[in-house]
Amino acid sequence: IPAPRIQLNDGQSIPQLGLGVFKVEAGEAERVTSDALEVGYRHIDTASFYGNEAEVGRAIAASGVARDEITVTTKLWNTDQTRAHEAFDESLERLGLESVDLYLIHWPQPMYGEALGAWRSLIEIVGSGRASSIGVSNFEIEHLQQLLEETGVVPAVNQIELHPMHQRRELVQFCREHDIAVEAWGPLSQGKSDLLERDAVVEAAAAHGKTPAQVVIRWHVQHGTIVFPKTSKRERMVENADVFDFALTDAEMAALDAYETGRGFGADPRTFDLR
Ligand code: NAD
Repeated sequence: IPAPRIQLNDGQSIPQLGLGVFKVEAGEAERVTSDALEVGYRHIDTASFYGNEAEVGRAIAASGVARDEITVTTKLWNTDQTRAHEAFDESLERLGLESVDLYLIHWPQPMYGEALGAWRSLIEIVGSGRASSIGVSNFEIEHLQQLLEETGVVPAVNQIELHPMHQRRELVQFCREHDIAVEAWGPLSQGKSDLLERDAVVEAAAAHGKTPAQVVIRWHVQHGTIVFPKTSKRERMVENADVFDFALTDAEMAALDAYETGRGFGADPRTFDLR
């Protein structure tokens, strides 16, 4: 997969396209990760909350692909923000890895006020070399600002719900200004909208001989976003990664941009409280 690499603010780089394994059923994640590595994926996005780190790790070990060619992201779960070192060790243990490429705080959980302490722990973890990069997920501008002001350490990425119906323009602008790479979760809107049937998507697909999913993934790529659409199906893995041999026109990009609705399908990070 000829995915370009995105340069992070800490000198590391990661492939712009990968595979997400949220809601890949238990018992399936090892096969799914193996398939992805076989068809050429080199970037896997998991989380302790997904319950499949061990399977992801087994697939990596069995793949024969050199460890340093694979970008592995995992995340600190909400209940672990006050025990980040232990939770990180447990993730490494399940993954069977000596280090991860990217370790993220999964949600800010501002009602508990624990994310700043967790961020200080991640700073120690990256200092230990067991995570190459550290970042956050679902952080709004005010949550990012707190980390910047209190620690001066800028997250390498912010992983947020992002797709044509929910483009987070103000937050994305803030991230760009602070050199925080933006990762899109729910890049296809998680199948919760009619995005793949919308006129501009279907028309662009026909014009380029591509599928609607490829058009939406390409839209992310051209906006410079890091993207890891989820699928368990091997042929869709191939499809979703085959987006580097065409380009949407400015008019096609603008037509997808126009699908902004101002709201997403996921939880509001300011109030989301799951533990
Ligand atoms: P997604 O937008 O990637 O949608 C996945 C769904 O799209 C699949 O279930 C499938 O039904 C459909 N799909 C995939 N490929 C398709 C194709 N080629 N044609 C038609 N339909 C297709 O949603 P997601 O899985 O929620 O997001 C991707 C990844 O982002 C996750 O797997 C996970 O790694 C990450 N994520 C992170 C958070 C977070 O809070 N940080 C939240 C949700 C997801």
